Amino acid sequence: MGLVVQKYGGSSVADAAGIKRVAARIAETRRAGHDVVVVVSAMGDTTDELLDLAEQVSPLPPARELDMLLTSGERISMALLAMATANLGIQARSFTGSQAGVITDSAHGRARIIDVTPGRIRDALDAGDVAVVAGFQGVSTETKDITTLGRGGSDTTAVALAAALGADVCEIYTDVDGVFTADPRIVPSARRLETVTYEEMLELAASGAKVLVLRCVEYARRYGVRVHVRSSFTPRPGTLVAGSMEDLPVEHAIITGVAHDRSEAKITVVGVPDKPGTAAELFEHVAAAGINIDMIVQNVSAAATGLTDVSFTLPKADGQAAMAALSQVQPSVGFGSLRFDDQIGKLSLIGAGMRSNPGVSARFFKALADSGINIDMISTSEIRISVVTRDADLDDAVRAVHTAFGLDATADEGQATVYAGTGR
Ligand code: ADP
Ligand code: ASP
Ligand code: MG
Repeated sequence: MGLVVQKYGGSSVADAAGIKRVAARIAETRRAGHDVVVVVSAMGDTTDELLDLAEQVSPLPPARELDMLLTSGERISMALLAMATANLGIQARSFTGSQAGVITDSAHGRARIIDVTPGRIRDALDAGDVAVVAGFQGVSTETKDITTLGRGGSDTTAVALAAALGADVCEIYTDVDGVFTADPRIVPSARRLETVTYEEMLELAASGAKVLVLRCVEYARRYGVRVHVRSSFTPRPGTLVAGSMEDLPVEHAIITGVAHDRSEAKITVVGVPDKPGTAAELFEHVAAAGINIDMIVQNVSAAATGLTDVSFTLPKADGQAAMAALSQVQPSVGFGSLRFDDQIGKLSLIGAGMRSNPGVSARFFKALADSGINIDMISTSEIRISVVTRDADLDDAVRAVHTAFGLDATADEGQATVYAGTGR
């Protein structure tokens, strides 16, 4: 007997049948004697549909109103799930993020959790009820406004509640059987990982493996929350995220997996004067617009002209704002022009053993070369190599690298299953 936090993603509660199936799973956990806190996402693609709707009434909706709108998605699913659970004879009470004590800063659309005060959740548990909490949302004590945590933020709500309540485990239920060596939607021969360390999962999530959102993994590592990723459609064992690289057995795989990301775009600043201070001026302006950049590449300057090109990647959604910020400094920096490219994809190979095993990069680049894939940009960390390719080449590139590192499952092991969801 213990305290379990269970998070169910949108694909697990996409329709009434899904909600009833999840309710049955909750009831079973409660009947086994555990205290249960459930975090739930909006049904199916509701969040995307609400975003589309907002765009139809306003090209640039005020961030406060957008958050008000988006949080309604999770309200629908939390109430329906509490009803379905009660219908099975298990008392359940739903709570908005604000009622659950999820306190955030006031940055609409990407709020950070600064405190969790789950008094009402404790009361519900003490009364023997299941608490069902709306994911992805909180309240700012500074502005008293409702905020959202950014896409995929229900994972973070679940881990934050698990940490605040001292839960034994935080179970993340989704539409695949756990964390795989690649996205099963692109690589059906991907293998399920039994365990993955926080560091490896951080790199996977940061590189686009959206099975867990990055902030939730950061939070879990900081507070030592054991995260168990599982399918809500089967009783299969899933993947445990825990432990650190220092504790790994020697036989731990050199390569953890391959991640891909289609959410980034590339900006090239053409004809930048090659002298001290220009990069600082460019990136100060981008940073002042609140934009996070990822990879940066600067060419060697052409001797005849003393000019160079600087390219960097950033979230597609921030593309126009970054272009506007850079245009403002064109006269003072004196660069030639700006180019925007959103037809790119990023591929990353992640592995804790990479740092002590030579030849990983060579094999990686050979796999891409053999498949005729051109590389646009390269960046590395201690346990990751990333490249930017054409968007159209990305899926082939992921499969080629996955195979080159021997990550494919054998015919006996079978193919990875995607149980639901549109992958949107
Ligand atoms: P949920 O709605 O449950 O939050 P998400 O769509 O956010 O689900 O995350 C699950 C999806 O993550 C899977 O359907 C899969 O396509 C994708 N995914 C990407 N990389 C991986 C990976 N390495 N392992 C498992 N799933 C992955
Ligand atoms: N519903 C939100 C989204 O689609 C939050 C989540 O599902 O985690 O991003
Ligand atoms: Mg998700």
